[in-house]
Amino acid sequence: SSHSRSLRPSMFDIAKIRADFPLLNETVNEQPLVYLDSAATSQKPQAVIDALARFYSHENANVHRGRHTLSENATRQYEHTRTLLADYFSVKANELVWTKGATESINLIANGLASRLKPGDKIAISAIEHHANIVPWQQLAKRTGADLIILPIEDDLVIDSVKCCEFIKLYQPKIVAVTHASNTLGNITDLAPIITACKAINAISVIDGAQAAMHLRPNLQEISCDFYVFSAHKMLGPTGLGGLYGRFELLNSLDVYQTGGEMIETVSLTQSTFRDAPGKFEAGTPNIAGVIAFSEAIKYLTSLDFQQMRQHEHTVFDYAIKQLSAIDGINIYSNQIHNIGNISFNYRDEHPFDLATLLDGFGVAVRSGHHCTQPIMSHLHIPGTVRASFALYNNKDDVDAFIDALKNSIELLD
Ligand code: PMP
Repeated sequence: SSHSRSLRPSMFDIAKIRADFPLLNETVNEQPLVYLDSAATSQKPQAVIDALARFYSHENANVHRGRHTLSENATRQYEHTRTLLADYFSVKANELVWTKGATESINLIANGLASRLKPGDKIAISAIEHHANIVPWQQLAKRTGADLIILPIEDDLVIDSVKCCEFIKLYQPKIVAVTHASNTLGNITDLAPIITACKAINAISVIDGAQAAMHLRPNLQEISCDFYVFSAHKMLGPTGLGGLYGRFELLNSLDVYQTGGEMIETVSLTQSTFRDAPGKFEAGTPNIAGVIAFSEAIKYLTSLDFQQMRQHEHTVFDYAIKQLSAIDGINIYSNQIHNIGNISFNYRDEHPFDLATLLDGFGVAVRSGHHCTQPIMSHLHIPGTVRASFALYNNKDDVDAFIDALKNSIELLD
């Protein structure tokens, strides 16, 4: 009942959360830091930082090799993190492969699918993809003689699910690779109709979850895509770590990407056999400390009530949009409703680098440039944008400080 709900203490205590992220207390250029660049990489809670130090101080050993205590302990923790992430995404642990990030994950998938493509086959991507979800497919097309085709977008740079479905039905691509949320704009893609259209023609769906994996806590079983890639460092985890989900049968049938130790079953001097997924895609010594510390990030995220977290993110985002819109000369490119929390904008025709540099002088960390999405910039006929990106640990005070700094910066420009 609403009565018992109102008695429940709020699980989303923003002051407490902010205290868990030591970097938020730093000063930059003698100003308190306002970190609005979480789309590039998220900050890390103390538990993740401590886990890295603990592993290297007390537990460091290689995985899957030794029979000694430390090695077995490291292996157990490494595999346990895979189980935690499987729960997070509602999939099975053997459907998750560790990589060094979303970029490597997409390259792994593209390479693994090469032998299935023939000249004239089509690979579909959208026009709002990150370069990491464009270039590997261009290379794959070159290598196989396949053609890259571009899915339709709406004028406001949201992937048009309805038109996409017609497009997929018409052109029958073998692979459809789209983002779950745009890094530049924050715009969220309505995946369900696209996945349904892919299934209808047996196209392989590859979803770039680098931006959405933390904000939307996706249930991949429900989304039911074939592949979903992510970066741990954008989910409160360490840098140099990411991974991919692949529907087991399909994943296990991919050609291997990198080869060597760890991924094999047997090796003779002339031939080798490989392990089943995920092992066969994890050649060499992985980022053991990173994976183990990432378990603390997953536990941190799942300790937060998802609805409350999203509600908080929406509140801060809406507030930022309202404040920004009130400034004369600000042009916002992001969708203002279906958004994970990334706002791309410009001030009149000032260069985004200049604005970002001035903001930095006020302690405000935003990103400027093309954000690895040059096709979006061409579409908008601009060299770049300023991007303020928010995460669960940002609050309205951050927005106020950002808007103050922005007004001061604009005064310096004018
Ligand atoms: N896709 C998207 C949408 C991204 O935002 C990023 C990171 N900027 C990537 C892919 C690549 O991720 P990483 O650099 O961690 O490999």
